[in-house]
Amino acid sequence: MEGEGREGGRGLMKIDELCEEDVIDWFEQVSSEAGVAQSRTLRKILQQNYGVEYLKQWLGDVNIHEIPDDFTLQSLFTSLVPLSSHADFEPFLQRIADGDPSPCLTQQPINTLSLSSGTTEGRQKYVPFTSHSAQTTLLIFRLAAAYRSRVYPTREGGKILEFIYSSKQRKTKGGITTGTATTHYYASEEFKIKQVKTKSFTCSPQEVISGCDYKQSTYCHLLLGLLYSEEVEFVTSTFAYTIVQALNQLEESWEEICYDITHSTLSSRIAIPKIRKAVLKLMSPKPGLGRKIRRVCEELKEEDWLGLIPKLWPNCKYVYSIMTGSMQPYLKKLRHYGGGLPLVSGDYGSTESWIGVNVDPCLPAENVTFAVIPTFSYFEFIPLFKQQQHYYSSTSSDTAIHDFLEGQPIPLSQVKVGQQYELVLTTFTGLYRYRLGDVVEVAGFHNNTPKLNFICRRKLVLNVNIDKNTEKDVQLVVERGSQILSDQSGAELVEFTSHAEVSDQPGHYVIYWEVKGDVNDSVLEDCCSAMDAAFIDYGYVVSRKANSIGPLELRIVERGSFNKILEHYIGNGAALSQFKTPRCTTNPYLLNILNLSTLKSFFSTAYA
Ligand code: AMP
Repeated sequence: MEGEGREGGRGLMKIDELCEEDVIDWFEQVSSEAGVAQSRTLRKILQQNYGVEYLKQWLGDVNIHEIPDDFTLQSLFTSLVPLSSHADFEPFLQRIADGDPSPCLTQQPINTLSLSSGTTEGRQKYVPFTSHSAQTTLLIFRLAAAYRSRVYPTREGGKILEFIYSSKQRKTKGGITTGTATTHYYASEEFKIKQVKTKSFTCSPQEVISGCDYKQSTYCHLLLGLLYSEEVEFVTSTFAYTIVQALNQLEESWEEICYDITHSTLSSRIAIPKIRKAVLKLMSPKPGLGRKIRRVCEELKEEDWLGLIPKLWPNCKYVYSIMTGSMQPYLKKLRHYGGGLPLVSGDYGSTESWIGVNVDPCLPAENVTFAVIPTFSYFEFIPLFKQQQHYYSSTSSDTAIHDFLEGQPIPLSQVKVGQQYELVLTTFTGLYRYRLGDVVEVAGFHNNTPKLNFICRRKLVLNVNIDKNTEKDVQLVVERGSQILSDQSGAELVEFTSHAEVSDQPGHYVIYWEVKGDVNDSVLEDCCSAMDAAFIDYGYVVSRKANSIGPLELRIVERGSFNKILEHYIGNGAALSQFKTPRCTTNPYLLNILNLSTLKSFFSTAYA
């Protein structure tokens, strides 16, 4: 990317020419003048895309070049261009996909479209991808790496065990390339530059990353990671789920991997010729290493794989991945595998735009915040006010969030600490005042740019009547239940989701659990009642007391059911790198998978 100059936007610079300290200096500068950087960013976006069809319908004949004052430009833009959602851009994106070259969203033609993971709304959406997208990805990766290496320095020339996966890149009938944003990035020059500039290289060759079969790619990531086990400096993936998934696979296939390392063979489960060829090229018989890994794995198996990562990768300095939001439930397992290694939370972004960087890599995932990068997009913040209601019982008084009221969107320079907001983006890639749907809270400031806590995705809610529980609420409730599960039975909660079942009267919540280990029904009954009682939403509590919401139902599903969900998404073009299990769902396909694999169900007696 031609990033903003270090002097705050004068003089442009090339990211690939910067060293680590330059990248940090650059961010220190732009975050110190975040408000100004935002005005410049908006001006730049509007100048670049002046006259495009979408903007013309709102701005009419207004000539933004004639508005010298940034403040006037911002207020004109926000008063004339309405807030929007993906649906507003769909007709334009479809035209782009069909090959219409006219400047409808951006002046530069869009040749590539990303597919969002689709795990929020159940269907993937087209999002524009331009060279700006790849360049900001490179910049945020370099920036985050620079902050990490201040506290956890790694050896130059070392390797990274990266569990990364591309989806298929396809062509639309209009000749536009589509795929996930990470797919485009892994295929880009910027990905190669990142490796050269951070002086650390992924263990797996491109053929493995873009293999398009996540099981075969995972096997090879593990195999090569172990082949280079002494050289691995850190273990990473985009979302924490992927590391947990891969290490689960290691628990299953370590013997086969040891055999392959010893004999320089490759399991017949790797069937894609280009992957076989690329991996075998890197191998030679290593009987000593094979024996050593076998011995460590045998010991690890006895200890329930506690500390797997440092034991198998003795020079690994940390694990780096997104561990916030819907990834938080995997922290427990990751800490188990990490055996005390630092877990560094990855940055905050979306297919639409990168948003913020983790500048405090030492913080535990529960406390991590993201400093907004004010040159990446123009950000607005819709204040969300919790309608707080109190309810009293004979023993306690609790405050619960009932619903959000919205204020007027405000610019980044006006946000307040402690306030929650929905994020709105205006991007270089042609999205204008686009509601991202994420709820964030301002936790503080890095210089003058806000540090955000990710709270939840706004659309993911459970609702029967006057109740409203977000995925975060569900996560907290499930944490309570899974604590009881592990305390009383030693079993482990592997995955969960939830659904508001309203086809019968009264409606009720259903929580689906996939559990590893044996559990008595009485423990599961306790978990179910404890979760029901743990919802503190006022609407839920009142409705449960009045029986206008029925008892919470806990459905236990067969092992592997959530994998079927993953496979469903991947079959539809998603990539493992971007997959996020939705914690609340109304998607009939997912519910069908879960209902067909339900083994037992329990009803709460909490309000009986
Ligand atoms: P996608 O559009 O499929 O790329 O997914 C982007 C979404 O993932 C964001 O809008 C967030 O809801 C979620 N997300 C991304 N980064 C983080 C993060 N660091 N913490 C929590 N959630 C995140």
